[in-house]
Amino acid sequence: MKAHDGMYIDGTWRPAAGTGVIEVVNPADEEVIATVPAGTVEDVDAAVRAARAALPAWAATPPAERAARLTALRDVLLARQDEIARTVTAELGSPLKLSQAVHAGVPVAVAGSYAELAAGYAFEERVGNSTVLHEPVGVVGAITPWNYPLHQIVAKTAPALAAGCTLVVKPAEDTPLVARLFADAVHEAGIPAGVFNLVTGLGPVAGQALAEHPDVDLVSFTGSTAVGRRIGAIATGMVKRVALELGGKSANVVLPSADLARAVNVGVANVMSNSGQTCSAWTRMLVHRDRYDEAVELAAAAADKYGDRIGPVVNARQRDRVRGYIEKGTAEGARIVAGGPDAPREKGYWVSPTVFADVTPEMTIAQEEIFGPVLSVLRYDDEDDALRIANGTVYGLAGAVWAGDEAEAVAFARRMDTGQVDINGGRFNPLAPFGGYKQSGVGRELGAHGLAEYLQTKSFQF
Ligand code: NAD
Repeated sequence: MKAHDGMYIDGTWRPAAGTGVIEVVNPADEEVIATVPAGTVEDVDAAVRAARAALPAWAATPPAERAARLTALRDVLLARQDEIARTVTAELGSPLKLSQAVHAGVPVAVAGSYAELAAGYAFEERVGNSTVLHEPVGVVGAITPWNYPLHQIVAKTAPALAAGCTLVVKPAEDTPLVARLFADAVHEAGIPAGVFNLVTGLGPVAGQALAEHPDVDLVSFTGSTAVGRRIGAIATGMVKRVALELGGKSANVVLPSADLARAVNVGVANVMSNSGQTCSAWTRMLVHRDRYDEAVELAAAAADKYGDRIGPVVNARQRDRVRGYIEKGTAEGARIVAGGPDAPREKGYWVSPTVFADVTPEMTIAQEEIFGPVLSVLRYDDEDDALRIANGTVYGLAGAVWAGDEAEAVAFARRMDTGQVDINGGRFNPLAPFGGYKQSGVGRELGAHGLAEYLQTKSFQF
């Protein structure tokens, strides 16, 4: 057990203002592995002041120099990949292989992409008789969740730094260790004091203080829709900019012409990865009635193969919540064909990879985000029915379409109310805009669209 001290503010680890601590627990075995300080309003205020003081110089730093710092940050993240992966596995519970490939790997790609974007971006453009400047929004308050703990920090920090903003990050309570490691990486990369600051703490205390701080110009939040709604209300009330990356209930639409086995196997893997704790997971699989029974059999067999290899969920509350949904699914008439409410291990926050058949669109498990390894398989009659079901939730973050040919899948995907669609198993692209339609959020992350969130325009007329 390691007791960590201090907040990273103005380029150094300085003592926290209060004495409260947060315990960090390994979800695989419930051991307390560390404590970090629980930040207070004073810590947040000190961090925001540091960010404000550092803003003019960082905003005036030439983009090529900001790009060079981001390249250095990318290199430090690359050099520390092993340590990052081990840290995420210890505090999130994800299997080490996933931590290496995704939790440690994707942030390197994203930091690198913003180093390139910062170097080549047109921060000034000519529009008729005007020159339009794309200037940094100012001080950013970033509040992040635990499910992709480093990725979500980097997906906000890298574009903010590329844009010339300074920031204060408040990471999730469950995963503060990789956030501390990231602050060390920022330091090592030579990013000037005050440009990046980290305050660990509880959401309703440190998170709320950050969202409410009058000197924060943009609140960038990733997390649940419930908290996002509150943060949106605070920011709007104070006329601040706000970006919200929220929940999802994405559809995996298997059209009749698709390679069924591939669509189902990739679909199950997508849901089970990271123990189902992925906001963009395709948790509703939609299959034509003629191929439904075959698909259910394939999905059950695929899920059974995972056992406890997917890792636990992050904490006891989350485990109980997921089990509650599994019980509700049964109570509302859906049929468990793999997994169920019993845990595969006694100690730790384990949930069995679970597949439900006979799920109808209005059931709770087809409407609400479960955030665990639970897949619902739904039946549709024809394409219009499939589209109605796919679009029939309050969310619209991601999705997938499978068909015999790409054009057919694309034609269907065009009609979906959602921010991203993978066509026949398309690969993750760190430059493609990520974000939600409807209640899945406001704004976009990643690539040039993600950079634009941190910029505001000023025009000179000649
Ligand atoms: P959460 O909303 O409880 O917490 C997210 C962050 O907000 C944490 O840092 C938390 O401390 C903070 N927070 C909590 N209450 C707060 C308050 N009153 N004021 C300010 N900050 C507060 O969500 P979670 O349980 O950490 O994450 C799971 C949820 O996040 C899921 O619903 C998931 O879909 C969503 N999510 C969305 C995306 C996306 O990109 N769309 C990505 C990851 C997670």
